[in-house]
Amino acid sequence: MTSLTFSYDRRPPKFQTVAADQWTNWHWQHQHRLRDADDFDGVLHLTADERAAFDEVDGSFRVAVTPHYAALMDRQSPACPIRRQALPHKDELATYPFELEDPLAEESHMPVPGLTHRYPDRALLYVSHHCPVYCRHCTRKRKVSDPTSAASRAQLEQALDHIRKTPAIRDVILSGGDPLTLSDDRLDEILTALRRIDHVEVIRLGTRNPVTLPQRITPELAAVLQAHAPIYVHTHFNHPAELGADAAEALGLLLHAGCVLGNQMVLLRGVNDDPETVMTLNRALLRHGCRPYYVLQCDMAQGITHFRTPLRRGLEIMDHLRGRIGGMGVPHFVVDLPGGGGKVELTPDYLVDGSPASSTEPFQTLRFRNFQGDLFDFVDVDLDR
Ligand SMILES: *Cc1c(COP(=O)(O)O)cnc(C)c1O
Ligand code: SF4
Repeated sequence: MTSLTFSYDRRPPKFQTVAADQWTNWHWQHQHRLRDADDFDGVLHLTADERAAFDEVDGSFRVAVTPHYAALMDRQSPACPIRRQALPHKDELATYPFELEDPLAEESHMPVPGLTHRYPDRALLYVSHHCPVYCRHCTRKRKVSDPTSAASRAQLEQALDHIRKTPAIRDVILSGGDPLTLSDDRLDEILTALRRIDHVEVIRLGTRNPVTLPQRITPELAAVLQAHAPIYVHTHFNHPAELGADAAEALGLLLHAGCVLGNQMVLLRGVNDDPETVMTLNRALLRHGCRPYYVLQCDMAQGITHFRTPLRRGLEIMDHLRGRIGGMGVPHFVVDLPGGGGKVELTPDYLVDGSPASSTEPFQTLRFRNFQGDLFDFVDVDLDR
């Protein structure tokens, strides 16, 4: 196994005197988050544009970077994929006519505040609006990091009530913000309440902590999750440079706690919009027991259009993966339709001649291409014709 480095061993000059047991303490990481341009002195060489962007975007979407995540950044290059995800950029202020404040209509599909119930069987439960790092590509910028929008205890109780009296909900996804911003005890209470509901068969936890604050995955947290196993943990790695030794340990703890791990990558221009980067990421994820679940097309949200790639690019990536990595490393490429249409999957077209839909004969020859572009005939059979 290739040796991965701990972020402590890459810590920038500013943190040289920090002891290892402080660095690996998630409370310390939280308290020492970098929030303005001056905080990056002794951490990175900000370009003039990067420095200016802190003032320019001030007030539109908060900046916060854990020392851990900052240590993964390239100190010199503004093109660093981790810098691009966490440092503000003036392009966030550009507006386009098609952008939407709430692209997935999550607010209008709320039967009660703090719960989006769009698909009959699944519900998103927002339990916190805070995150260790505020991703510049966040699709929920409208409320994430906004202290006035945090879910109150009463609101959460009301959302749990709605789940209790809606037997169609079989799958509950804890979301936010980041649910791991809550304390272990609070999380335990929510999981206990959900496990008491007979019709809730699946509980998922959507969290970026394994990426941005892997120190949060402590043995104590793992014990809480284990008590409610299996919890499906959906995390959000976007680039192989995010999967260092700390993240690998965090994934290992979750696996041993009986969690089922999946990754939801967001396709981002200048971060991961090329096939080899996604291939490397997916191989690293599989090595650590985390299956690539989704590649998500960037939404039509405000202030993230500079991150968007054409749909064609996603299809090229999927085409590259298929055949070159085991099927477990090939995620679904999905577009979440605006207005609450839900997710639809796009797949490369492997059928070059004929169509199963128009087949009217008992035997019909269809022509396929494989991942290498070679052609093969396959006979479709319908003996009931
Ligand atoms: C994405 C999403 C889900 C979960 O979808 P899966 O395809 O089952 O992972 C559920 N509810 C909403 C509102 C969503 O946006
Ligand atoms: S962790 Fe998720 S919710 Fe939080 S800022 Fe990043 S994308 Fe948004």
